[in-house]
Amino acid sequence: MTISENLQAVRQHIADACKRSGRQLDEVTLIAVSKTNPPEAVIEAYNAGAQHFGENRVEEAESKIPIVNAQVSASPAWHMIGHVQSRKAKDVVPLFQMVHSVDTLKLAQKFSTLSMEQGRQLDVLLEMNVSGEEAKHGYVAVNWATDETVKSALWSEVEQVLMLPGIRVRGLMTMAPIVADPEDARPVFASLASLRQALQAAFSISLPDLSMGMTDDYPVAIEEGATFVRVGRAIFGERANK
Ligand SMILES: *Cc1c(COP(=O)(O)O)cnc(C)c1O
Repeated sequence: MTISENLQAVRQHIADACKRSGRQLDEVTLIAVSKTNPPEAVIEAYNAGAQHFGENRVEEAESKIPIVNAQVSASPAWHMIGHVQSRKAKDVVPLFQMVHSVDTLKLAQKFSTLSMEQGRQLDVLLEMNVSGEEAKHGYVAVNWATDETVKSALWSEVEQVLMLPGIRVRGLMTMAPIVADPEDARPVFASLASLRQALQAAFSISLPDLSMGMTDDYPVAIEEGATFVRVGRAIFGERANK
């Protein structure tokens, strides 16, 4: 299968999931996760119609993004989806249109200051660890609906992040645990969607975006309200082991 054929198949699955869940196709944006893949593969996907790309490492993005942008007619949108160390934040701001992985107040403050210095506002998502897996980054949000301690700590963090002038909080992101049956990821996606609702109500804000769903589970994520799905292997093929 070529990248173009893969992309077409993913688009069809997205359309099917939208249909099943009564959603409009334009509510869901496909991010082609190009990490570990060379610029040529990105350009192939771009020529097949992909307009959003996701990268998870700053160094890799710094070398890849300028090469791709120089070879295409209109630059695609680049999404930082991986953990960012705050000392690397300065390298992220000029390269990416959106950061999906803001997971500490310190990092949010750094992005805000850097964006203000460059005279812009950066769109960000707050990464939430709703599954409770220890290996995952993100704000602790496991059992947020029933655990008052978790909830009040989270609410207080979010309140402070929302006050930062250089970032626009567009919504939430999560990574589901790796499971054999995608149905097992559904409760995690549903929890993120209801957390979004609760935060919107608590702070009288609009959080339009939910970034959730990867190769193994994006149709389920769409059924639960994803507005961004981050799909790598289904488009570019299996990654070589790092
Ligand atoms: C790698 C990655 C993806 C894509 O994973 P696939 O299984 O290849 O679709 C999505 N989100 C994040 C944060 C990633 O690091």
